[in-house]
Order: sequence, then structure tokens, then C-alpha cells
Amino acid sequence: MPEGVIPLQSSRPDAAGAEVSAAGAERPAVEFRDVEIAYGKFVAVRDFSLSIAKGSFVTLLGPSGCGKTTILRSLAGLVDITRGQISIGSRRVDDVPIYKRNIGLVFQNYALFPHKTVFDNVAFGLKYRNVPKADIKRKVGQALDMVRLPGSEKKLPSQLSGGQQQRIALARAIVFEPEVLLLDEPLSALDANMREEMRVEIKKIQRETGITAIFVTHDQEEALSMSDRIVVMNAGSMEQIGTPQEVYETPQTAFVADFLGKANMLAGTVSVADGNSATVDLAVGQTVKVATPRPLGVGSAVTVVVRPQKLSVGPAATTNRLSGRVVSTSYLGGSAIYEVDLGGTTVRSNTPISGTVVREGEAMEVGFDPAGCVLLDESGRRIS
Ligand code: ATP
Repeated sequence: MPEGVIPLQSSRPDAAGAEVSAAGAERPAVEFRDVEIAYGKFVAVRDFSLSIAKGSFVTLLGPSGCGKTTILRSLAGLVDITRGQISIGSRRVDDVPIYKRNIGLVFQNYALFPHKTVFDNVAFGLKYRNVPKADIKRKVGQALDMVRLPGSEKKLPSQLSGGQQQRIALARAIVFEPEVLLLDEPLSALDANMREEMRVEIKKIQRETGITAIFVTHDQEEALSMSDRIVVMNAGSMEQIGTPQEVYETPQTAFVADFLGKANMLAGTVSVADGNSATVDLAVGQTVKVATPRPLGVGSAVTVVVRPQKLSVGPAATTNRLSGRVVSTSYLGGSAIYEVDLGGTTVRSNTPISGTVVREGEAMEVGFDPAGCVLLDESGRRIS
């Protein structure tokens, strides 16, 4: 296997969607190998290698302009690659035209034909493939059942809500049983409630059909809640790949820590170190003890990364207590988000509350378990 190719070949999703090893090496549903994509002289994607197991749900996550859509478009055949290879199943497709790639596409803006009925919109890909009329009727009916809009065949897109239009777009994309389903920010035009409902819906349909799905978003919650694997992109390159839990709990770089979930980053210097723990003098003038995966050098610069959920407050802050002052309080029912100024650096805690809510301006202690953090070195990479 060439270097840089993630070895998913021997895995496939089980019934619950987790990837499990298979004895026989199964071909990935999609494979990018050392792909580069340039627009003129500007390289938008570089050294991109990724294998996607059949039936899995993979999300490309990253800020605007990092190359997510470009990668998706290259798989669909809407943009040419300048280096590397792309395969769908056993077929190399980088020179195959879009209409021969057997891919279902869903975009942010529905892209339904406004003057065609729901039936004609959904039937489009089937008619194009010369499917017999009776089969078209049956398949369209099944697809509409799947997206929970049965009996809507005669309606026009304008008679449907945004969420319903997006369901029709989904039905249109899956009705011809494509090998891969590509979803480019399909939820961003919807309101918050509808977005959450559609997240669950899309995931359910993907599981039921067993289709391989690649989803593009800049919304970390969408990525964390829907994906089997998340590919975090930064400036045209893959920054990290892993399960939602892996990328959230063990970010490999400062970029991933920061982009995924508003991590608290506390800069400091190691003042005492033994085999598997170290004392860090923080720039905010306070000291913490952290577990370390290997002995660290005294005097080395580190950043202690603590997730808001791992930063306890008040009496619950039993270890690594840091004193500060509350600068903002957001009460959320059973939990609260506090922003606490530790003396020049503001940290965020998002934990269940017991007792009274602490108000802005009041003193507060925060704390975290020595093992409840990730350490980054001077270059922003995880110390492992
Ligand atoms: P967004 O979330 O904003 O859609 P993205 O991560 O999907 O961002 P891309 O649309 O893939 O990013 O764009 C990656 C980079 O390539 C950006 O810098 C963008 O300006 C540039 N780019 C995209 N399309 C073209 C094009 N047709 N011509 C020139 N540059 C382009």
C-alpha cells in the first residue's frame, strides 16, 4: 500500500454503522490517492489520500476555503485533478465523465427543477438511464416513502417547505441506487430545528440503504453527530482523520483542537517532570499538573488543551484548581456555560451545574483532571 493511504480496505460497517475488520480485504468504495487539484496556479488541494469503506458515512470538515467542495467536485467529475488517482470501487474514474460515474448529489440549494413536479424531479435520473416506465413509478414511490413524503408526486417544489424540498433532492439522488452519495452542505439553508431533524433523517436513510456517503460541512456539530469518520481539512490538506470521538478527544494539532469544539488552550512551560507527569507553569501565572505520555524536558514550552466539558467549576473543581472571575454566564437548564478570566486568558466551561448559577463578575474556581487534557508541543502538534 502506498504511503499516506489510510488502510480502511479491510473494514466495513456493521449493522450499527461502526467499522469492523473483515478477514478478506474488501475494496474501498472510494479511494483518493495523492490527489492534487489546482485552479490555474493556485493549488486548492494537495497530497490528499483517503480510502472510504463501503457503507460508511465520512464527513469532510473544515473552514471556508479549505478545499472540501473541491474534493467532492473532483469525485463527481465536476473538476479535474492535476495529480493522483481517484477510484470508485474497482474503477479508476479520474478520466471518466460525470454522467458515467454513478454518483448521487445533494447540494445546499436543493437544485430541484422548479417547473417539474416532484415525480418528474425524482424520476429524472431514472428516465436518463432509460429505466422502464413501470419501474420508474415503483422506484419513485419507494424513494418518496424513504424520505417520508409519500403521495407528493404531483406537487411542485414551490408548494413544499425547505426541509421537504431537501428531502425530494435526497430522493432524487438515491432513487437510481448510486454507488456513492455526495452531500455538499445540504442542511445549511434550513432553520435550526429543521437542520436537526434532517441530520437524523439523512443518517437513517444512509443506514437503511447502506449507501456510501460523503458529507461536506463546516459545522462541527453536524460532523460529530452524523459521521463514522471525520476528515478535518485545513488549507487544502488533511489535518486529521478519525472517528468523531477520536478527533474531538484526541486532537493531533492546535488547529483541530481549536476548530472542533472551542478548546481551552493554556500556554505554559514545564517546571517539574517525571516519567508520566509534569508540572506546568501557565502563562496566566498559575500552576497545573498534567499526565504526560512520555517524559518531558524541564523548560519545554507546551500548550495544555482542555475541552469545556472537562473543565469543572466551583466545588466540583477538585484538581488543578485555577482562580478566575466569571465574565459571562449562559444558563442552559441542567448545565451552564461559563467564561472565566484566569488573568488575561479566558477559558470556557460547559458542565452540569449543581447549586446556584454564578453570575458575571463573581470569583470562580475551575479545575480539570491531570489526565483530562491533551498536550501540544511548541509547533502545535500533539505530544504522544
Ligand atoms: P466553502 O465552505 O466556503 O464552500 P470549501 O472548503 O468547500 O469552502 P472550496 O470551495 O473547495 O472550499 O475552495 C477551495 C479553494 O479553492 C478556495 O480558496 C477557493 O477560493 C478556491 N476555488 C474554488 N473554486 C475555484 C475556481 N473555480 N477557480 C479558482 N479558485 C477556486
